[in-house]
Amino acid sequence: MRIVVTGGAGFLGSHFCDRLLAAGHSVVALDNLVTGNPANLEHLRAHGRFQFINCDISAGPLPVEGAVEALADFASPASPIDYARLPIETLQVGSFGVFHCLELVRRHQARFLLTSTSECYGDPEVHPQREEYWGHVNPIGPRSCYDESKRFAEALTMAFHRRHGLDTRIARIFNTYGPRMRLDDGRVVPQLIAQALRGEDLTVFGDGSQTRSFCYVDDLIEGLYRLLLDSAPDPLPVNLGNPAEITILEFATRIRALTGNRSAIAFRPLPQDDPKRRCPVIERARARLAWQPRISLEEGLRKSWEYFQSAVRSPAAPA
Ligand code: UDP
Repeated sequence: MRIVVTGGAGFLGSHFCDRLLAAGHSVVALDNLVTGNPANLEHLRAHGRFQFINCDISAGPLPVEGAVEALADFASPASPIDYARLPIETLQVGSFGVFHCLELVRRHQARFLLTSTSECYGDPEVHPQREEYWGHVNPIGPRSCYDESKRFAEALTMAFHRRHGLDTRIARIFNTYGPRMRLDDGRVVPQLIAQALRGEDLTVFGDGSQTRSFCYVDDLIEGLYRLLLDSAPDPLPVNLGNPAEITILEFATRIRALTGNRSAIAFRPLPQDDPKRRCPVIERARARLAWQPRISLEEGLRKSWEYFQSAVRSPAAPA
């Protein structure tokens, strides 16, 4: 297939390009590099089935020529500090950007995959989170630019599905980590690993009793690949994540054990609306895609370790 990947220079988008190319597909990656990093695609520069276009998908119709059989949309700031810095751009890419993606898909009668998020559930009152849960989102809080952008993107995707009969798929991605995360993107995995490597205190927000469920990038990418390639179209959202839930304080102690870091844990104020618990129910993904995560947190952190070490040592490299 010839597949467009928006946000192709980002953490997940670039891994998805690799997965598609490895399976023999052709890829057109789009990115405006506002949070993406061209270094993530450097190894594909001379690949015969790969093309990169530097463009802002919010700005207008997508400049993609030739056949399009599918589009996977990864374009959005995704870390809390990135979307706090870029709130309007985040809302634009989830609305105008997704509209332009869907228009291209409609013209080509192609397949569409939206990468949505567990943030659609907000600070959930139901635990763990199944796809049927409608969420608990503060529409005017500091996270709303991301949460509501993705909720709008889901609504727009369903509207194109209902109105135009498009083949659309929606993945709700839970916390994912691994190589190519920016060391400075503020998310807890790169942040604490970078602090440990620099011998700094590990910053834990609040009392660290809030939970997350961390999925290694290879597992997540496999789930997304199966969802896009699944031969049975189904527009209902699918949770993708690792249901192994852990408190942030426990996560910090695991980072200390992994890195041999002896520095203290520094408690900092909990950001507003920080979700207290988050854990996916993945029965739908299991049943539909025969998918489940295979890589434990220990193994995933070990696999990420080398990458983060080299990024800390040479900040000019893929940090
Ligand atoms: N967090 C933390 N210390 C940090 C960065 C994040 O304790 O230096 C906490 C944050 O408050 C949240 C969790 O770690 O409860 C996960 O945060 P992240 O930014 O990775 O993603 P989120 O799941 O909030 O989108």
